[in-house]
Formats: sequence, structure tokens, C-alpha cells
Amino acid sequence: MAPVNLETATKVYRRLKIDQFMPCLLCGFRNANPVCHGCVSLLQPMNSRQCRCGLPFSAAPALTDTDSPPLCGRCIRRPPGFVASTALYPYQFPLDMLIQGFKYQGKLVNERALQQLLLHAELPWPECDLLCPLPVHWFRRWQRGFDQGERLARLLGQHWHLPVVTALARRRATPHQQGLTRSQRQRNLRRAFQCQTDVRQRHVLLVDDVMTTGSTAREASRALLDAGAASVRVWCLARTL
Ligand SMILES: [Zn+2]
Ligand SMILES: [Zn+2]
Repeated sequence: MAPVNLETATKVYRRLKIDQFMPCLLCGFRNANPVCHGCVSLLQPMNSRQCRCGLPFSAAPALTDTDSPPLCGRCIRRPPGFVASTALYPYQFPLDMLIQGFKYQGKLVNERALQQLLLHAELPWPECDLLCPLPVHWFRRWQRGFDQGERLARLLGQHWHLPVVTALARRRATPHQQGLTRSQRQRNLRRAFQCQTDVRQRHVLLVDDVMTTGSTAREASRALLDAGAASVRVWCLARTL
């Protein structure tokens, strides 16, 4: 065996040490995680009470455990089919950068950052027995090369030890929802989903990356409930305020 060259060995060792640290995806600071500690602390989790549609109540009314959660004006006028929804974070800077990079620019490296954030997410409703991603249309999936909602659901499924069932399919590619009014969104989405799996008597947790108005989740949960699901709840990574 050739003698070890101490100088070369030291160089290799140093390089290995340095490679354990990667630049933070948000600020570039080298550290051991995809998002550094400083940037994580900028992300304020949604911790106030949320309406059934996921909107937080800034001044949460005092409630006992037996009270049903209060509803916002829109949910009182038109209650959603799903029982409840929760968001991990408000959709704002710098989380929006991570999600947009992942979703629209295909930066799969951002998935590692999202995975890091999900480690702290608790399963909000233990009665849920399966996760169902909100699907994108096959054409958009083909354009992007992946389905970010499904990937997110799979990360959560591993984290919570729940099966992921892609029960829903898009009947048609709905135009981008961004920049549309609420009624335009609703018209866009009417009967957009089809349930293709047996979900009878199942308690479904729908998974979405960003919930904007909740119109998509309403339509998706309608398809699941029409197919016989016992209940639908919604989990999203971020909620537009
Ligand atoms: Zn950082
Ligand atoms: Zn509401």
C-alpha cells in the first residue's frame, strides 16, 4: 500500500467538511440545512385560530373545546363541503419565493427546504385515514415534469405514516387561477375534478401547497363527498391572507 500523503489527505478532509455545509436557499449563508436558522425564524407559523376556510381570526374569540369553530362571513353565506382546514404558514415572503421556485421554475432543490419545514408539522386531525393531493392536469404536469402537490403529499405521508391516494383527477386543464376574481375562479373550476378511487367511508385529508380563496378545495371536496367520502379536511402549506 502506498504511504498516505498527509497534505493531500488533509485537503480531501477539508473539502469533505466544507461540503457538509450548503448555501441557505434563501440567503446563501453556508450551514447544515437547506434553509438556515436565521431564515427559518423569519417564517412565522400560522398559530391563531383559523376559520373552516383556513383564514386566521386575528382576534380569536374565547371558545371552549365543545364549541364549534367560528366562521368567516363567506363561510357563513356559503359553507364549504370540507369540515375544516389548516395552513402551516401564511403565504408571504420569504416562503412564497421557495414555493414559486419549486412550482414554476422546477427547482426541485427547494423541495428539501419544504421538507425541512414539514418536520415541525403535526397531523392536525388523527381521524384522517388517507392523504389526497389536489391534482394538476396531466398537461401541466407534463409541462413541469412533476406534480408539486403530489410530491408534497408524499412527504407528508412519510412524515405522518399515512397512505397517499391520488383519488382525484382533473377533468380539464383549468386556466391559471392567479389574478382572477372569486366568481371567475368558481366558474373556472365547476366540476373540474373527478374521483377515480373508492373513497367511501374514508376520512380524507386533502393536501394543497397554497390555498388562495379555497375555491379549488371546495370543488375537490365536493367530488370526494359525492363519491361517498365520510369527511374531507384540508391541509395546506401556506394560505393567502
Ligand atoms: Zn438563510
Ligand atoms: Zn371562512
